[in-house]
Amino acid sequence: MKIGIPRALAYFAYYPFINTFFEKLGMEVVVSDPTSKEVIDAGVEDAVTDACVPVKLFHGHVKNLMGRVDYIFVPRLVRVNSEATFCPKFLGLPDMLVCSIDNLTNMLEVRIEIIKGKRQLFLKCLEVARRFNKNFFMTWKAYRQALRSFESHIMQFLQGGIPPLGILSQDKSSDIKLGVVGYPYLLYDSYVSLDLIKKLIGMGAYVVTPEMVPEEIKKRYAGKLRKMLFWTFSNSVLRTAFHFLETGCVDGIIHVTAFGCGPDFIVDKVIELEAKERKMPFLTITLDEHTGQEGINTRLEAFVDMLRRRKRKEAVI
Ligand code: SF4
Repeated sequence: MKIGIPRALAYFAYYPFINTFFEKLGMEVVVSDPTSKEVIDAGVEDAVTDACVPVKLFHGHVKNLMGRVDYIFVPRLVRVNSEATFCPKFLGLPDMLVCSIDNLTNMLEVRIEIIKGKRQLFLKCLEVARRFNKNFFMTWKAYRQALRSFESHIMQFLQGGIPPLGILSQDKSSDIKLGVVGYPYLLYDSYVSLDLIKKLIGMGAYVVTPEMVPEEIKKRYAGKLRKMLFWTFSNSVLRTAFHFLETGCVDGIIHVTAFGCGPDFIVDKVIELEAKERKMPFLTITLDEHTGQEGINTRLEAFVDMLRRRKRKEAVI
């Protein structure tokens, strides 16, 4: 039994759990090829035109798996805690795919709505495993191993690494510390992000992303807005940005956003205004399927140079 996992959206946040779970259930896990021009073009061809680039990409990754696997795993990600849901595009993803892609008949749609923690997660795993006639004990073992693999993935992030990009640790003594906020499926997809994080590290910066800030710290900033945002990933981005702004633990913030992203119209504006008030250097990078390397390189180099000059000036004063 081959199960296909599209390398897009939820994959970048939860892949160690998803991959390990299916593997330990005895299935062959096939992850779609890394994003490339062909994958993007395939997605753009079928997705609705006003979809954001991560959703178009998901279409491309599903098409990349068609004909190669028995099932394609498509989560309908509703919520993983009691305070927020995922963006509506996550909620409607399976419907969008079925309507847009011809002959998509082997989708394994799984609705994920977890509000009561690990017990509910295990019950969901049990429900999926039963579809493949797997017994309770095998599922329990697969679930435990999937959890362990997910926890060690989080640990790697917290130790300053960025596992989806193959970065195991960074040089903490770098002269520039940069907060790079954005959704995991944008930041950690090398192709669509034009390897922005690796470029910054190559310029000598130490990069901190939302996944590198512990959840307990992010939760402290939950009350910063009069009204909480509705969307899980947006809350994570905004709380991380507030952490950077309030503690001043970074020299500047870069917000990486997708063209056409509804939630980011709010998130980006809030970070921009708060950064302005606190005189924190701030840059927005908007990505879409047409974004070119040269423009991004110039903007990143100029931003890092400006931060270095600012630090030197502050040191003289
Ligand atoms: S949060 Fe934005 S980028 Fe992510 S799926 Fe929703 S609209 Fe697209």
